[in-house]
Order: sequence, then structure tokens, then C-alpha cells
Amino acid sequence: MKEASFYEKLDGQVKCYLCPHECIIQDGKRGSCRVRKNFEGKLISENYRQICSYNFDPIEKKPLYHFFPGKTIFSIGSIGCNLHCSFCQNWEISQSGIDNHPYLRSNSPADIVNLAKSRSDNLGIAFTYNEPTVWYEYMFDIALLAKQEQLKTVMVTNGFINSKPLEKLLPYMDAFSVDLKAFTEQFYKQHTSSKLAPVLETIKLLTKHNKHIEITNLIITETNDSEKEFRGMVDWIVNETGEDTVLHISRYFPMYKMSKEATSTEKLNQLYAIAKEKLNYVYLGNIRSGEGQDTFCEKCNSKVIERTGYQTQIIGLDKAGNCLKCKQLVISNCCL
Ligand code: SF4
Repeated sequence: MKEASFYEKLDGQVKCYLCPHECIIQDGKRGSCRVRKNFEGKLISENYRQICSYNFDPIEKKPLYHFFPGKTIFSIGSIGCNLHCSFCQNWEISQSGIDNHPYLRSNSPADIVNLAKSRSDNLGIAFTYNEPTVWYEYMFDIALLAKQEQLKTVMVTNGFINSKPLEKLLPYMDAFSVDLKAFTEQFYKQHTSSKLAPVLETIKLLTKHNKHIEITNLIITETNDSEKEFRGMVDWIVNETGEDTVLHISRYFPMYKMSKEATSTEKLNQLYAIAKEKLNYVYLGNIRSGEGQDTFCEKCNSKVIERTGYQTQIIGLDKAGNCLKCKQLVISNCCL
């Protein structure tokens, strides 16, 4: 446990400013994320040092396809989330508080950095599995140490964070994988208990600060899969973050409270074709498919990276990430 940042005391209650919910919390109660508690008039981060899952994962699993492709990254997660998605793929940890998980592993930030350094082929540390925003203080302390050790840092996030805490974190975070779950406020309200607008603001802020960002859009059958909505999202991405923005279109499977059937491959292929009309780098996730896996040079169309599952082979790039055939820069964060 640690006293939280970004809150104010309000006569026994506290108001948290970490994410746009801005919960006002009574003494003894928790915020919507279930892991920030008013303890005798102080806001406490209950999951500080509390680790639920950790693993050395392929960076492609985050998913990040244009950030040191083929590398391994030490990935850690805890419990809690500030969204309550009916289709959550990790609901057992994201929709839990500390009381449901009495046996979490406790590690100091230095322990985590040492674990990350224990494998010489490891790129750095990814904050993932549950929403790292609700683990802010611990993530911040680890990221600060990680940068001192020249480790790369990655945040896999729903983007529902206020700008002030995000800006404070930016110097210590290299790359962001952001879930853009849909492109309507109605979807966000009905299926996530949150709002779309702050997520779009996060993506804009990351772009303004030249952070590496890749966007993932999970397509759910008859829920956020309309061509009109999808085209609107692609247009917004092109206008706000540019045609080189990496977009991962991900296949949904029934999970948690959502029982719609899995997204059809026809639908995914249709949306993939639409995205490719305007974006240079579009990928398909959660699907066994020949298309939408490999990376091609946007200028000469040579295949530069080949992927089979999480096996990644760089076949057409030099160490700086330029296409071997035409010298076009394809991946600026390519090799260490
Ligand atoms: S981080 Fe948690 S407590 Fe703070 S505003 Fe968001 S949901 Fe509420």
C-alpha cells in the first residue's frame, strides 16, 4: 500500500484525479477501479507492489509490431481496472479488488528492474494484463528506475487517464499500446462504463509528444462492427495521428458477460481492406490468417518482416529499420 498521487481531501471524503471518473470516495470505500481506497481520509493505492501476473512475452503480444520487433519484454500486471467492459478478456484480474486476491506476489520496484535485467535478451518492462493506470504509483516508480538502467518501457492501456498524470509519466515511458474499443460514446457508456472522448485526448497527447503508439480495435459482432463507424475511426486516426499509425484489428471471442458469437473472418477481412485504403500499417490479431501478419514496405511493397504466430523474422530491413530494397524508413525503433 502507498499513499496515492493526484487526489484532494474533502472533509473526510477524497477526490481522485487520476482518471476521468474523478471518483469522490467516502471513508473506508474504494473508487470505481476497486484498488484505490479512502483510508481514514487518505487515498491509498492498495495494489502498490502487488503483482498478479508476470512473464517474458514477445513484444508482438502487447501488441506492438513496430517497436523492436522480435524482442522479448518482461511483462507485469496486477488487479483492478477503471473500465468495466462486458467483454473483458482478463476479467478475473481486472474486475477484482485486493480482497479477492489475498496471495499476490509482492516486489519492490528494484526487484522488478532486477528481474527484467536477469535475461540478457530482454528489451525492458511492459505494464500490461490489467489496466496499469490504476497501478500508477508503482508503474511510475518502476519506470523511473528502468530508464536509469536503459531498459525500454511499454504501457498497454485503455487510454482512460487524465492528462496531468499522463504527462508526468511520459518522460519515463517509451511506447504505448492503446485500446480504442469503439468509435461511439454510446458503446463506451453501455459496454465499458466510461467515455470515448478522454481516450481520444490521450491518443492526441501521445502523438503530440512523439511517443511510439499503436492502436488496437477489438471488433465485436453486431456491437462495434459497422462499416460506417469503422470508417469514421480510420479517418480520425489518419487526421490526428497520421497514415503511418499502426492499427491492429483484433478478433473478439465470447468472454465474461458478452455472449455474441465470435467475429467472423469475413467481417475482419472487410474491415482490414477498409483500413488499408488509408493506413499504411494494418494488422489482424487473434486470428490464424496469412493476411494481416507480415510487414511490407509502404514505398516498394517488399516484405520486410515475416510473422508466424509470435515467431518474428526481420528479412528486409537494415539495423536502422530502412527497407533493404528501396531505403525507405519502415520501423524507426528496429534494433538495439
Ligand atoms: S483511478 Fe480509480 S479511484 Fe481514481 S478516479 Fe479512476 S476509477 Fe476512480
